[in-house]
Amino acid sequence: MAIQLMPDVLANKIAAGEVVERPASVVKELVENSIDAGSTVIKVAIKEAGLTEICIVDNGAGMEADDVERAFFRHATSKIRNENDLFHVRTLGFRGEALASIAAVSQLEIKTSTGEDAGVKLALEGGIIKERGKCDARKGTEITVRHLFFNTPARLKYMKTIHTELGHVSEVINRMALAHPEIRFELTHNDKPLFQSTGRGDMLQIVAQIYGNSVAKKMVNASHETLDYQLEVLAAKPEINRASRQYVSFIVNGRYIRNPILAKAVMQAYHTLLPIGRFPLAVISIKMDPILVDVNVHPAKLEVRFSKEKELFDAVEQLVSKALRQQRLIPEAAAPKPKKVQEKSEQQSFTFFETKPTREPQPEKWFFDEVKETAPPIMEAQPSQQQDDTSSEPAYMPETVAEDRIIEETVEPELEPAYAVPVMYPIGQHHGTYILAENEEGLFLVDQHAAQERIKYEYFRDKIGDVEKELQELLIPLTFDFTKQEALIVEQYQTELEAVGLFFESFGGSTYIVRSHPQWFPQGFEEEVIREIVEQVMQESKVDIHKLREEAAIMMSCKRSIKANHHLNYDDMFHLLEELRTSQDPFTCPHGRPIIIRFTSYELEKLFKRVQ
Ligand code: ADP
Ligand code: MG
Repeated sequence: MAIQLMPDVLANKIAAGEVVERPASVVKELVENSIDAGSTVIKVAIKEAGLTEICIVDNGAGMEADDVERAFFRHATSKIRNENDLFHVRTLGFRGEALASIAAVSQLEIKTSTGEDAGVKLALEGGIIKERGKCDARKGTEITVRHLFFNTPARLKYMKTIHTELGHVSEVINRMALAHPEIRFELTHNDKPLFQSTGRGDMLQIVAQIYGNSVAKKMVNASHETLDYQLEVLAAKPEINRASRQYVSFIVNGRYIRNPILAKAVMQAYHTLLPIGRFPLAVISIKMDPILVDVNVHPAKLEVRFSKEKELFDAVEQLVSKALRQQRLIPEAAAPKPKKVQEKSEQQSFTFFETKPTREPQPEKWFFDEVKETAPPIMEAQPSQQQDDTSSEPAYMPETVAEDRIIEETVEPELEPAYAVPVMYPIGQHHGTYILAENEEGLFLVDQHAAQERIKYEYFRDKIGDVEKELQELLIPLTFDFTKQEALIVEQYQTELEAVGLFFESFGGSTYIVRSHPQWFPQGFEEEVIREIVEQVMQESKVDIHKLREEAAIMMSCKRSIKANHHLNYDDMFHLLEELRTSQDPFTCPHGRPIIIRFTSYELEKLFKRVQ
């Protein structure tokens, strides 16, 4: 068969397969264009999750009359001109593909004006212009995309339920709003409002819109500037955590991106503050010279490549760490609030606004209609036990504290770590397990085992803090029977292992002998630490001494701590509380479980109905 060039219409239709995967991708591309055009208000109205209609109205720069038709050619862009520009991209778009692709698979109408003369109107079908005309001179652009995929039935078949598609669209709007708090976004579905941001530049407000007020109230913030980066962090206190990793958002120069490496930096900052298998919720916004980031590495531009990744990794970890550690992290036990209303408002916040695509939104019917209803307050004397997969406020602290307090108030003042917990005076002990204590700030329940684990952990961590080069001879050499794969790793990374003081002697097959170990290895845990090292090398292809020391400290602290059911006298208790108080992270044990629960005097009064 003779090789021929495709006609443009066909080429565009094929290219559309890459750019336009589903209604959400159309919304993403068009909103990005509106942002690039300098809009301050962007309204998105969709019908049937965008499958019947997507209409985007912005108040941006608009297009010159002569430009409009050209904008629908493939590779037509006003954003870059030459190769050099590609290294300095400040706009969200630059490939000049979106309009051509979207038009190729829909019926599209555009009205646009720079605000000076009458605007231009254009109607296209399957990428072919059907109508040209004029429209009013309102500055900005309005694009309506109808019957998406009408001419690509195979693609249409892949569309999931309305709710899934709608979930994707609202995720796109969430991300855009997080990335651009200075722009007012509105999203309506079948004429019902789903999302609205104020455009006042307040990131916390957007977080409240997306994740709910109760989450926003538990966010701490910090910012930092290095030579290369301007960083801003909003991080949830560890008591707010999630079952998946998808709740950490990165914004780089106004673009929402995914980045597993930076996500790891955030996880490291939360290390020992979160229970195992739980993940943090945070927004990290980074501004940098575009020369330091390559945005042209991913088809949907969702991933980028940083040129100084390690430096950025450290900066992110340090800042998140600082944000968390300057705060008081004691969960407050609070009187539960009327149950029904609480459930509604929580459901409302994750029905459409969660940034997690896998969660299918509920039918929107109850979403706005029923939230308004007011149920009679059902006060429970027992704190609620309910917990779910996405939100894991510990069961003892239903999310309540004066819901109406404005968010800003809750950003607490910075505290010296040593004073993060005030002096607590023991009152007694419950079941030989929890210490009851008090001070002017209320009543405290302290898990004595967890408290001691934390104290010991920090002690061991500091003690084995400096790695001496000196080796300790073992009286009886340790023997390791590795798997084939482990043995290969041991051989391959011999130099790295020797550099940290580990010498494996081959003993035939996959068996190895170790006759000495570095001084810092905790006594009685030598074998465990060595196994840990081999595992680490297998997973990460390197030896991370810092992390090893952490693991070793956790192991030792847990094994040597007082267990539950151990009676303590007043002095023991006071001593333990004082040690806890002066530790660096007195709020969670090394496994991330809470150590202290506080009942404020106010909450106690509320529970006893002394105040309303
Ligand atoms: P890209 O965004 O990569 O340049 P697109 O196909 O998305 O490519 O858009 C093509 C061009 O159309 C843009 O470069 C821009 O000049 C113009 N354009 C698209 N949408 C808008 C809008 N909402 N307001 C102003 N100009 C727009
Ligand atoms: Mg674009």
